[in-house]
Amino acid sequence: MYIQSIKNRHSLAVDYLFSVPQKGNFFERKAPFPVLGSGYSGIYKVPFAEKRCEMGSYKKCSMWVVVIGLFLTHIACGGSDSNPSPVDSGPDGDSDSDGDGDSDSDGDGDGDTDSDSDDDTDDIDTDGIPCQTPADAGKISFSNVPTWRDGATAAYSMFHDDLCDYGVRGIQENAVPALNERGLSAGLGAIAAECEAGDHWEMVAQLESQGHEILNHSYDHDNVTPSNIDQEVVAAKETFDQHLSNPVSFYIFPYDYFTDETIAAVLGNGHIGARGGNRDDNDGFTNPPINGTAPASDGAVEFDVWPRTYSKYALYYPEDILSVHVWQAIKTGGWATREFHSVIKDGEPDEGNGFGPIELSAYEAHLDFLVDAYRKNKVWTANPSTVIRYRHAREACDATVNGSDIVYNFSDPDCSSYATPISVIVTTEHDVASLEGRQGTTFVYTRKLAANTFAVTANPTAGDVALSGCADPGHGVDDGDIAPEPLPADSVCDIVSVVGTGGNGMMDDLERPEDEFQVLPNPAQGDGRTGSWSWYPQNAGVEMTDDGGNTVVSYAGTDLGGWSGLTLAFLGGNGAGACYDAGAYSGLQFRIKGTVLSGDELDGKIILSLVTAETQAQAYGGDLDGEGGHFNYQVTLTDAWQTVTLTWDQFNPPTWGDTANLTELAVEKMQAIDWGVSNQASSFQIYVDDIELL
Ligand SMILES: [Zn+2]
Repeated sequence: MYIQSIKNRHSLAVDYLFSVPQKGNFFERKAPFPVLGSGYSGIYKVPFAEKRCEMGSYKKCSMWVVVIGLFLTHIACGGSDSNPSPVDSGPDGDSDSDGDGDSDSDGDGDGDTDSDSDDDTDDIDTDGIPCQTPADAGKISFSNVPTWRDGATAAYSMFHDDLCDYGVRGIQENAVPALNERGLSAGLGAIAAECEAGDHWEMVAQLESQGHEILNHSYDHDNVTPSNIDQEVVAAKETFDQHLSNPVSFYIFPYDYFTDETIAAVLGNGHIGARGGNRDDNDGFTNPPINGTAPASDGAVEFDVWPRTYSKYALYYPEDILSVHVWQAIKTGGWATREFHSVIKDGEPDEGNGFGPIELSAYEAHLDFLVDAYRKNKVWTANPSTVIRYRHAREACDATVNGSDIVYNFSDPDCSSYATPISVIVTTEHDVASLEGRQGTTFVYTRKLAANTFAVTANPTAGDVALSGCADPGHGVDDGDIAPEPLPADSVCDIVSVVGTGGNGMMDDLERPEDEFQVLPNPAQGDGRTGSWSWYPQNAGVEMTDDGGNTVVSYAGTDLGGWSGLTLAFLGGNGAGACYDAGAYSGLQFRIKGTVLSGDELDGKIILSLVTAETQAQAYGGDLDGEGGHFNYQVTLTDAWQTVTLTWDQFNPPTWGDTANLTELAVEKMQAIDWGVSNQASSFQIYVDDIELL
């Protein structure tokens, strides 16, 4: 017998409320493992009982949302009122010698030295500062064009999806004010139809004018396929471009569902980048979802997803999920991106606030971390298209220093087509306090990185930059360390664990409307369990179906070409990084019938696997550092219904991989039950019902 058990795969195809964490398990005969392609990324429309409005009836709900959204948005965001920008509440004493009405030396109208319009200094400031007290810098020399702006160690971008939808009004109400206050910006993925329906264009344009990047998040928020690219990609872009100062240039696929073909279509229709990174191969440790520094894979930008149950960092506590991802970029010198949806006030319920909202205090703590990381020149936080342009422009635009001028060569077409401010590091013979940079009549952002060393950031296509030494303090780099990299928990069970009492053992009797098949929490689950269904690969056929007046789950496939499985989680969607202690139960029972046609010894059989945190890989919400089999039991199928009853000790231990040494089922760390089918199967049709713990 060489069939062992199951490997858990978990694809985080996530966006909005329609999807669950999709996982896969698959059997493995021998090393090496089958390679998973993008087919494991998928979208699963899931009616969440308490969030019906954001579910399958999305458009209908939008209709009533429109009315409320219009009203609230105009209150919350200024709408058409006469004061749409953040109000300057600072004391604008005018005791300086520059041309604006305040007491500092920068170019804006408030009382501090940063670039925003509030009155504090604990934020990010990239103003060009005209020098008041010239000083001799001596000879100025070219050093390099750094990988990231200012020579920061890493780059970082944030996404907020579903802008204009009423459920995520917290983006404009909570997230944007917190960003603006700190001089930070984010990519805001807007749904064109929602912006139209809610007449949100003024708000969208205002957010753009504040420095945020508006991203194309489709027209109708449908899965993008070759057949609807004209609508979901092209028409959406045309609609956005009619209302924005800058054409949209970055695409976010609804539900994070994409294929090579649809990514190519997005890039071929006026976008320079897309959030289309395959997450199946990522984990939170040795292969985190971090982008490289080279100008490549712009359509396959890797990302992590908030909340934790959808994150690749499931082994980290929720409060550490955001910063550990940034830390992974710092450690590799790469570019991290983070998917959020809405931001809610502390204590506000998640319900009615879109997919996986984050509380404002946690969000602000993250932004404060980013500001600190900026000040210490560790992390450059920027809009996604800005980072993509920088990666290209850095290589395509040449820079040298001639006398006291930075001279650019932008003859490479890529330098113009990706035109964006790039940094040039220069050194000065004398250690002046700051360096003034003037491009025509405009003062550009300069920053002192160390003694005699400065970063000068300007758009090469706007002409050469004249440099001169200055005795006035300018932008600098703070000393000290940023908050240390968080440590993982010993087990995901330390983070989320539910202890069963041995009471109601029902896991699913499937007696509910068919459109509630994947409801979270699963209403049939008893005794603290919530878990729902998932399956792999994506093209397996799974549905609730009537069987003589009884509703059951049907699971079918033909020539799927890989290991296949149907999975019922104990808590959440499988891969959620949660543990259920089933120690109060002695085993499980379910009803099953069906056929499997397979050219191997799994002909006519399924392998039932118990997925625990011990046997689930870290990449898929478990503790296992590596890969291995699960505790398992083979069931011979019959044409008529049979009831299978198994005690925990009847399951066979794993026999391959990093779990082959396990002898005892971790019954206190249960994550899922999996009904698996051989990768040799030419076809199968299985029915399952009445899954129950005993
Ligand atoms: Zn979305």
